[in-house]
Amino acid sequence: MIGVLRGNVECAAIDEFFQLFKTPWEYYRAGMSYDVLVCCGVTSSGYSADLIIVCGDERLSFDDENGIMLRPQSTGFVCTDRGRLPVYGARSTFAGSGIPVLHDETTSEPSGLIIASKGQTYVRLGYDPFQEIRYLLTQGQPAVNATIPVVELHIDFLRDLIVSYCSYLVEIPPVPAGFTCTVCLTHDVDHVAIRNHKGDHSMFGFLYRALIGSALIVCRGRRSLKYAATNWLAVLSLPLVYLGLARDTWDRFERYLEIEKGLTSTFFFIPTKGDPGKDKEGGKPFKRAAAYDLSKLTPLLRRLLGEDREIGLHGIDAWRDENKAQAELHRIKSATAATAIGVRMHWLFFGERSPAILDEAGFIYDSTVGYNDVIGYRAGTAQVYKFPGVDHLLELPLHVMDTALFFPAHMNLSLEEAEAALAPLLENVNRFGGVLTVNWHDRSLAPERLWDGTYIGLIEELKNRDAWFATCMQAVSWFGQRRATSIAVTPQGGDTLCVTISVPDCDRTLPAFRLRLYKGRKAGLAQAGVDRQYTDIPFDSSRELVVAV
Ligand SMILES: [Zn+2]
Repeated sequence: MIGVLRGNVECAAIDEFFQLFKTPWEYYRAGMSYDVLVCCGVTSSGYSADLIIVCGDERLSFDDENGIMLRPQSTGFVCTDRGRLPVYGARSTFAGSGIPVLHDETTSEPSGLIIASKGQTYVRLGYDPFQEIRYLLTQGQPAVNATIPVVELHIDFLRDLIVSYCSYLVEIPPVPAGFTCTVCLTHDVDHVAIRNHKGDHSMFGFLYRALIGSALIVCRGRRSLKYAATNWLAVLSLPLVYLGLARDTWDRFERYLEIEKGLTSTFFFIPTKGDPGKDKEGGKPFKRAAAYDLSKLTPLLRRLLGEDREIGLHGIDAWRDENKAQAELHRIKSATAATAIGVRMHWLFFGERSPAILDEAGFIYDSTVGYNDVIGYRAGTAQVYKFPGVDHLLELPLHVMDTALFFPAHMNLSLEEAEAALAPLLENVNRFGGVLTVNWHDRSLAPERLWDGTYIGLIEELKNRDAWFATCMQAVSWFGQRRATSIAVTPQGGDTLCVTISVPDCDRTLPAFRLRLYKGRKAGLAQAGVDRQYTDIPFDSSRELVVAV
């Protein structure tokens, strides 16, 4: 059990950190015995545990007692055995005796020290991991660090310390039993059909990119001549499409169902035709308005729902206005007859008040927190999380958007480069768990994009890795149940533990959970490079387990 002495760190950040870590913990209570004590900005003397972690950039009495000097540093990276970790808040490096466990990337000075003092093992960290989590989940990290799953690395570093210095660690990892990871395939429906775009900027953009853009791409050797020929044919067939004599070039819903056969996905639809909404400055970006009318798409919505697809809101103004959020929610509820609705904003518009507005309106989840121009972890995580201060709304972060990979103004990757860029995200979700959330727009399989090969390749790779393909609502529900689950551990003497798992209202249609039991080394970080050994025990309901460590 971890005990936390919090000083002036707000509870919400600590609570959320341990919702993501999901290991037994509590705020320190006098008279209780803890395996690990985490002290944030408070004195750590007079306490005992297998390990005491002392966090913070400011000088503490602990530092004076142990002859540690602090040197304040600006935002930068610290390096662990397992990789680089950006620290966004205040941090310090140290001078003094002790074994360095973290280094400042620029100065090589220790950012973490292991100190043995009066029979007690301490780890002194020069930053506060809970404040880091708060920053990441509320402000997000800059695109330059997008590929780093920072939240997962903070948890992993703490896990490593506990396994190294304590006799055991139990947790409920963010991975469903029977699968290696979770994936949400999603589609923002921005266009539906090119028939809706006669003589507008979307049509002229299509003509330019299909005729000239694709020729340039072929000349650069990035796509085959067949790619350009397909696009030119699509342009030639356009008059027939407008006359209703040929299939609509952009209507690829059936193709998505075919590619995703046996799987599932989520489609986000825009609620109102011709409404661009407002941006942060109050402007009305006319290109943002949808040219399709949701009320005329009943057969399509029925078809998708009949194939077990989820329909969510592709929000216009729901991110900035309570009444608009209610109205947009109502439109999707009426169109789908669903009672539980999730949302992703068109163009990923979002503001500081958005979580509270969406929470209040009654959305179950949001899936807007991602980047338009790169792929990766805006909130530093692949886990479903809760914004501090909201009541129930969960955030399913977005990691991969097709337009970010391929648009010339964004990453501008070739097909091969896109595959290489996706590989680390697949590795991370396998290593740390969480959800890989992918957005392939409704028209991205069609000319002039023809990005189907990358999408099919990604799905095949995820299938080979035994991923759980879930709708957004299913993934969020699974994580919601994990949040509601609690574990308590009672040492039984000797090498056995009694683990009490409490799972309220478990939905049996979702995958089970697993209890992960690490055998601790109690031998220090000397063996930190060795793979940690653990046992997984699947469970799907409340129970009591007696396990050996
Ligand atoms: Zn959109």
